[in-house]
Amino acid sequence: MAATPELQHTVGKTASLSGMSLHTGEKVTLCVQPAPVDHGIKFKRKDLQDEPTIDAKIENLKTVERATTIGEGSMRVHTVEHVLSALSAMGVDNAIVEMDANEPPIGDGSASPYVELISKASVIPQEKARQIFDVREPISIETKSGSLLVVLPDDKFRISCTQVGPEGRFSQFYSTEVTPAVFERELAPARTFVFYEDVQPLMEKNLIKGGSLENAIVVRGDAVLSKEPLRFPDEFVRHKILDIIGDLSLFGHRIRGHVVAVKPGHHSNAELARALVRERTKTMPTLQPRAFPPGEGGLDIRQVMDILPHRYPFLMVDRIVGFEGDTKISGVKSVTINEPYFGGHFPGHPVMPGVLQVEAMAQVASILMMKITKSASRIGYFISADAVKFRKPVFPGDTLFIHAELTKARSNRLAKAKCHCSVNDSVVSEGELMFTFLDK
Ligand SMILES: [Zn+2]
Repeated sequence: MAATPELQHTVGKTASLSGMSLHTGEKVTLCVQPAPVDHGIKFKRKDLQDEPTIDAKIENLKTVERATTIGEGSMRVHTVEHVLSALSAMGVDNAIVEMDANEPPIGDGSASPYVELISKASVIPQEKARQIFDVREPISIETKSGSLLVVLPDDKFRISCTQVGPEGRFSQFYSTEVTPAVFERELAPARTFVFYEDVQPLMEKNLIKGGSLENAIVVRGDAVLSKEPLRFPDEFVRHKILDIIGDLSLFGHRIRGHVVAVKPGHHSNAELARALVRERTKTMPTLQPRAFPPGEGGLDIRQVMDILPHRYPFLMVDRIVGFEGDTKISGVKSVTINEPYFGGHFPGHPVMPGVLQVEAMAQVASILMMKITKSASRIGYFISADAVKFRKPVFPGDTLFIHAELTKARSNRLAKAKCHCSVNDSVVSEGELMFTFLDK
C-alpha cells in the first residue's frame, strides 16, 4: 500500500545570521527565506550586480578542496556544506539562502548556528509531495585517495561512517538514522577539525584568514587544540557525517537508503552525489507511465507496468480485463504457489493474506482513477480502507478477479471506490477504499 506522502517543506519566515567568513575573514550576513514548492535550495549573492542566484545542485559544483564550492560563470559560493547540511537534515526542501559575500559565516565550525537559524525561521509544510529517491540496489564509488562510499537500500535515511586521521590516529565510527532531532542533538554541534600538517601551508599562504581555534579544532600530533573541550569523544566522525549530509543534498532529492562511508571527504561525497544522479536518471523511465490507451479494452501486463510503479513481489494484478464506462474496472491475478508470501503464510497451509487482496483492490482502483483523471503524472495515494471483510480463503491455483467501482469523486483530489475480489464467482473479500491524488 502506498504510504501517506511526505510533503515538501520551506521556512515560515525570513531569519538571518551574521558572522565571519572562513577564507576571507570578512563579515557576512546570511538569511534564509521561504520559497515555493519544487524550488529547491538556491543561493543568492546580494553583494553582486543583479543579485544572481544559483541552484545548490551537483551540476554547479566547482571545487571540493577543503570545502564545497558551487558556481556559475564567474560567480562563486564557497563552503556551502554546513548550511546545506542543516537545511537538508532539518527538513527544508525549498529556500533561498541570501548572502552579502561569497561564503556563509563559519560560526563555531559546526552546523548548530544554522539549526538555530532554521528553528527561528520555523519549518512549515507545503502542498506538494516530496520526491524521495529509493535506493534499490547498492550504488558505490571509490577514490584514489582511499575513500569508499556505498548507499544500500533501507527504509530510512541512515549514515554509517568511519574516520581515520594520519597514521591511523583518531579512528572513529558512528552510525545513525538522520532525523531533525538526531541532527540537532548528535551531529550539528560537531565542529570542523583539521590536522596541523594540512593547514600549516595554508596559514603560511594566508588562505584561511578567518581560521582560528574559535571555529575549528586543530589536531597536532596527538594533541587536540581547541577553544573549548571536545563536544563528543567521536566529534570528528560526527562532523564527517554532517559534511556528507550537506554534500549529498546537492543530489537534489531526499534519499531513502543507508550511506556507508569509509574515510569520506568532499571529493568522494560529491562523486556519490553524481552517482545518485546517474542512477536516478536510469530508473526514471519506469516511474513515468506512458499515456493511457483509449477505449474500454483491457491492459496487458506490459501496459499495467507502464502505469503502476509496483514491481515484483508487490505487483498484485496481472491484467486489466476491461473498463465499464468511467466508473468500473476489472482486473485479474493468478495466484500461484510461487508467490513469495506462501513460504511463510503458512508453512503447510498456504493461504493468500487478506491485506494483499486489499492491496490488489487498491492497485486496480488506482488504474481506474488514473484513466479518469487522464493523467499519469499524478499518483493516487491510498488513504483509508473501510468495511473490509474477508469472506473466504484464497488458495494457490485460484484466479482472483478484482473489481472496483468509483462511488464518489469529491473534487479531483479525493475519490472513493467500492471494491471486491472474487474466485469462481463468489466474493472472497471486499472493502471501500479512499484515495487522494497528488502531483508527482
Ligand atoms: Zn565541514
